[in-house]
Amino acid sequence: MLRVDLRDLRRGPVETTGHLAPDDPVFDGLELGLDGPVRVDGRLQATGDGEYFWRGTLHGEVELECRRCLRELHRPVDADVSVLFSDDPDAADDPSVYPLAPDAAYVDLGAAVREELALAVPAYVLCREACAGLCPRCGADLNAGPCGCASSDDSDRGSHGSPEA
Ligand SMILES: [Zn+2]
Ligand SMILES: [Zn+2]
Repeated sequence: MLRVDLRDLRRGPVETTGHLAPDDPVFDGLELGLDGPVRVDGRLQATGDGEYFWRGTLHGEVELECRRCLRELHRPVDADVSVLFSDDPDAADDPSVYPLAPDAAYVDLGAAVREELALAVPAYVLCREACAGLCPRCGADLNAGPCGCASSDDSDRGSHGSPEA
């Protein structure tokens, strides 16, 4: 599904639909925390000599940690993909263009799927906007209520997380 034969593209647009397992080699080394297969939709079509435009969507789910309280979260990841593949060496400097070898027999969507999905995974998530986080002193989850440090901590208010010297 990720490799589309150029001979098929010469006949017209090609639907690109399928599922990629989280352990698909396309995602090697990314550590996205994928929590199931990634669904790929879209269509690829020739737009010029040696130029192919792919418009599609990626949908998956990732397992992340709340940055404040470290609770495990599952979040959907969706990406709209619009990328150009080109065998024009002059286009190789354009970061939005994926290069094709001049003698390529197919367009491989793998690199585009990999990059666009990685960009779509949020780097910073909170279980909720008002997450109270963990107490920097005792590590208790403050979402469950005050931990007891707070009351004895009035004297050094403002020095969050920095132990007294
Ligand atoms: Zn949280
Ligand atoms: Zn505490």
